[in-house]
Amino acid sequence: MNIAILSVSLNVFSTQRIMEEAQKLGHYVELIDHTKCSVKLGEGKPRIYLGEEDVTSEFDAIIPRIGAKVTKHGSAIVKQFEMNNVFSTARSLGITRARNKVRTLQIMARKNIPIPETVFSINPDNIEEQIKILGGPPVIIKLQEGTHGLGVILAESKKSAKSIIDTFYKMDTSILLQRYIEEAEGEDIRIIVVGNKVIASMKRKSEIGEFRSNVHRGGDTEAIKPTSQEQYIALNACKYLGLGVAGVDLMRSKSGPVLIEVNASPGLKGIEGATGVNVAKHIIQFVERNAYTRRK
Ligand code: ADP
Ligand code: MG
Repeated sequence: MNIAILSVSLNVFSTQRIMEEAQKLGHYVELIDHTKCSVKLGEGKPRIYLGEEDVTSEFDAIIPRIGAKVTKHGSAIVKQFEMNNVFSTARSLGITRARNKVRTLQIMARKNIPIPETVFSINPDNIEEQIKILGGPPVIIKLQEGTHGLGVILAESKKSAKSIIDTFYKMDTSILLQRYIEEAEGEDIRIIVVGNKVIASMKRKSEIGEFRSNVHRGGDTEAIKPTSQEQYIALNACKYLGLGVAGVDLMRSKSGPVLIEVNASPGLKGIEGATGVNVAKHIIQFVERNAYTRRK
């Protein structure tokens, strides 16, 4: 098969791993920097150009690895490939849905997937009421489109919560408020789903003096077997968002597991290191199963 990885750089561990496994399985694989692509709409088939080269029909499948900063353009490029019937490990719509935490949580709520109590608003006049709705401080204040734990703040008092929220509103930055899941003690769970199957899972524990368990924030990892309820949440979250490959983050709250967010381009280093599972190979095999049928 001819596979394109949509990514801005080859110098990323996950991109390299996926390329490596694709080559091992005998495929031709190319890195396409989606930020350098142009699309053409109008007369004839919708086309995708990389520089002057028309790459619309070059590939049997694409594996989007779209970074946070270029999601809009990235998902438009994915959409363009979809319009040409090229298989993608993540649907364009899924990528956009997962990018925004409020949008993800709304979809989860509609489908009865448990999530933390969450409030969002843009009204600076009712900040106190919002905090009250969540049961008072401490509260989590989160950028709707943050990543790597950056943009997740723990406000321990009403005073600090109010000033932080007010600042974000004044800066026109979209945020959400969430109950602080203190009982999780800085731990969360990352479940990797590939093609409707849970293939690897780990627990991440935050560093001392830190509540965010992201690997980028120095979190420690350990392989685990998620409960059947956790697996159910992860599988359905991907299904409802439209993602063939994703990293689903859960926290164990006192009322059971809750979905925190879904990552459409999950990093492979932490999970492969913690579990020894060859996630990159699973992704390529998933592509093989689907792209061939698509071509027929
Ligand atoms: P990001 O996209 O930046 O990873 P997350 O929503 O996944 O944002 O939050 C980052 C980390 O912060 C989580 O992995 C978890 O450890 C912690 N965290 C997030 N939400 C809560 C919450 N409601 N209560 C306690 N900790 C949280
Ligand atoms: Mg996260």
